[in-house]
Amino acid sequence: MTFKEKSASGKKLSLNGDERSHSTQKKQGWEYSASPESTDHIQLRKKYDLFIGGQWVKAAKYFPTINPATEEKIALAAFASNSDVNKAVLSAKRAYEKVWSKVSPKERAKYIFRIARIMQEKAREFAVIESMDGGKPIKESKGIDVPLSIAHFFYYAGWADKLQFAFPGKKFLPVGVVGQIIPWNFPLLMAAWKIAPALACGNTVVIKSAETTPLTLYKLAEVIEEAELPAGVVNIISGAGETGAAIVNHPEVKKIAFTGSTEVGKIILRSIAGTDKKVTLELGGKAANIIFEDAPIDQAIEGIINGIYFNQGHVCCAGSRLLVQESIKDTVVKKLKYRLRSLKVGDPLDKNTDVGAINSKEQLKKIKELVSSGVDEGCTLYQSDCTLPERGFWFRPSFFTNVAQSNRIAREEIFGPVLSIMTFRTPKEAIEKANNTQYGLSAGIWTDKGSKIFKMAGDIKAGVVWSNTFNKFNPASPFGGYKESGFGREGGLHGLKEYLSFNE
Ligand code: NAP
Ligand code: MG
Repeated sequence: MTFKEKSASGKKLSLNGDERSHSTQKKQGWEYSASPESTDHIQLRKKYDLFIGGQWVKAAKYFPTINPATEEKIALAAFASNSDVNKAVLSAKRAYEKVWSKVSPKERAKYIFRIARIMQEKAREFAVIESMDGGKPIKESKGIDVPLSIAHFFYYAGWADKLQFAFPGKKFLPVGVVGQIIPWNFPLLMAAWKIAPALACGNTVVIKSAETTPLTLYKLAEVIEEAELPAGVVNIISGAGETGAAIVNHPEVKKIAFTGSTEVGKIILRSIAGTDKKVTLELGGKAANIIFEDAPIDQAIEGIINGIYFNQGHVCCAGSRLLVQESIKDTVVKKLKYRLRSLKVGDPLDKNTDVGAINSKEQLKKIKELVSSGVDEGCTLYQSDCTLPERGFWFRPSFFTNVAQSNRIAREEIFGPVLSIMTFRTPKEAIEKANNTQYGLSAGIWTDKGSKIFKMAGDIKAGVVWSNTFNKFNPASPFGGYKESGFGREGGLHGLKEYLSFNE
């Protein structure tokens, strides 16, 4: 693969992988040979139809999905119309009534296990496709997205025949047909978070991928076919916002599980008001990552880097507001500048890459607009001076100092590799600043003192609070938000509850 790159001086360079790493070596004094992941083993169709009722069903319209690192078209994906959504929902309803509600919990578990096992066999293929379609570094899709997705299927397979132990003494039934809508930042993982508990609880599913990342969901459809899951139990479709809206508004959809922006979450809530549909909303975030002066600083620096530059900052629970105790601010900023220089930005398929491509042109535009607002409002911008490939969508790992709580970059979700750094003097001030946001999804606390961790974790209004670590996930652990980050929990036992209807 050849990238056209721009040197730090602005001169255009056309480099292949080896030349590229050579130039980095000369510039930075250390050497990494390019280590591209092979793409020989992946199987992609030129065109993906809709997966409805166990069949591949043609749509009237198709749209291209591109590789954001090269801007090349990878494949065409079907654009599901209202009548396609209706077809998918009716197929899920038929499958629920005629087949899935009659399958014993123990048999349900076996199907879910089988899906997990087949995914394991295709793990490498899933990882490469996820990185090609969405731009995330292969080391992340291989080490995090794919194994964690598989772990969710294994975990919920284990629960399928033990639901009475999860909710002792309670009477419950599956909900029926569930509609699931997911974003583009963790396509396969978000699908696993949603499909696995829904099946374990005995529901049938219609799920829609995000417009820029349909491919791993269609790969999952192939796995579901291979696992011989009864036709119509899981229906996988692609399309745009209007496709999602058609799922939400279909009268036969009894529960909606949505992950995406707060803006669309509000639209969904408005449109189902007055119906008896169940809903969970996993929305945006603007998490505080709080570093005390007694924290292990070098470990905290890695936590800050992981908190904001993981997956290019396209992470709902990203630690995008750094709150540093005033006495150590200069040290932290100095160390961050140094660390930013060694972050490798570029080809997502290169195993050395730390920060990949921005998912889409639109997202890049949004990031740039918010970063300009930060500069206009008087904040100080620092950016890594790495060379960026000429084609594709890229943004340098960046942070702002001199940030006030009222600045847009401190309030709005940037959803890119951009950190806003602020300071505090006392734990009380840190709590007040951490909670001064419309969001409440996650937070991080770095300190040597356990008592401080317990006090802070209790007072911060966020669904997940990490201490001396960040962005750690486990299928057994519930995830979800407060305030405008949404409601309902995914993962763990809490995640099962959302897919059952209780007769108290
Ligand atoms: P988005 O624009 O809200 O889209 C999310 C999904 O909803 C996509 O599949 C989208 O389809 C669909 N959609 C758009 N308009 C719709 C409508 N009117 N009715 C129903 N569905 C509709 O969000 P995004 O830009 O893809 O994702 C980024 C956001 O997701 C961020 O705010 C992030 O914080 C949040 N997020 C939250 C979590 C969490 O667990 N809390 C996890 C990951 C991401 P199209 O793609 O076709 O537009
Ligand atoms: Mg794509």
